[in-house]
Amino acid sequence: MLSKTGGIYRVAFGAEEVEAHLRGKLKQGPLRILVGDAVTTATDDDGSITIEQIEPRSSVLQRRTPGKRRGVRAVAANLDQVIVVGAAKDPPWDARLMDRFVVVAEANDLPTTVIVNKADLIDDTSDLIAPYEAAGYETIITSVKETRGIDELATHLRGHVSLFTGPTGVGKSSLLNALQPGLHLRTAAVSKKGRGGRHTTVAAEMHALSDGGFVVDTPGLRDIGLWGIEPSEVARAFPELRERLGDCRFDDCRHLSEPGCAVRAAVEAGEVNATRLESYRALLHEAIEAAQPWAGKEPE
Ligand code: GDP
Ligand code: ZN
Repeated sequence: MLSKTGGIYRVAFGAEEVEAHLRGKLKQGPLRILVGDAVTTATDDDGSITIEQIEPRSSVLQRRTPGKRRGVRAVAANLDQVIVVGAAKDPPWDARLMDRFVVVAEANDLPTTVIVNKADLIDDTSDLIAPYEAAGYETIITSVKETRGIDELATHLRGHVSLFTGPTGVGKSSLLNALQPGLHLRTAAVSKKGRGGRHTTVAAEMHALSDGGFVVDTPGLRDIGLWGIEPSEVARAFPELRERLGDCRFDDCRHLSEPGCAVRAAVEAGEVNATRLESYRALLHEAIEAAQPWAGKEPE
């Protein structure tokens, strides 16, 4: 299933795209249909197409929604990888925000690639990308303006289902349009302001790539939060911390100020990037807050 607009679902059939309705029983069931779902369809007597069944999923990307409708929300199914895009400049590179997207992908067990776009705007991108290379992530430097890294990105996406995410204005739509002119990316994001002035509605949309594979675009996915990760699991979503966890003196070390912390020692030795440790700490505190029981609390 590629996208949903009102009650109409766009479904890919080989190279073709058709519009379909959802069978009534699927509307009530516990399994909500997601962008990326493989489906079985039937053609009704009047020629209209109906989605009869949702096939088992290989993965689901979930995020936490803040505000009035807080809870866990699935974004897309059957993804092979997540592409987190940041800009070298305009908007300024925000390591904390980038780590948040990377951690969400990691916690969903999805291979992640980090892109620094708008490389034309600064002399040297190596400081920005080094922490992710050190952590073992695939990285690509791109410039839509100078057509740099676009072929590499195309190769990386070919034959896979890839979700594009990252802050607003970093050039995600520009990259996708450079990859495949005529992708018809939606420009007006479907997002409503929640009461707290925060965006609460996200609709992912999937597009077929002519070379094979699909990209999922997530307009409005700006307020991405940790959802139901236990605080003790946050460090596991940082590969370079994960491999050191057994070396801390205490089994339940949170790598804050505990003595004998192998993670802090690795930062001091220059083996782990200090900014990544700061992101870990910020996300740990967020996970601790999110783990508080919601019952009895007034929604924001
Ligand atoms: P999105 O919100 O992530 O989809 O970002 P857009 O694709 O809408 O791009 C935001 C702005 O950045 C637009 O004005 C683009 O023209 C510009 N932009 C995108 N890629 C590049 C790039 O590589 N270099 C420069 N200088 N500007 C870019
Ligand atoms: Zn530690």
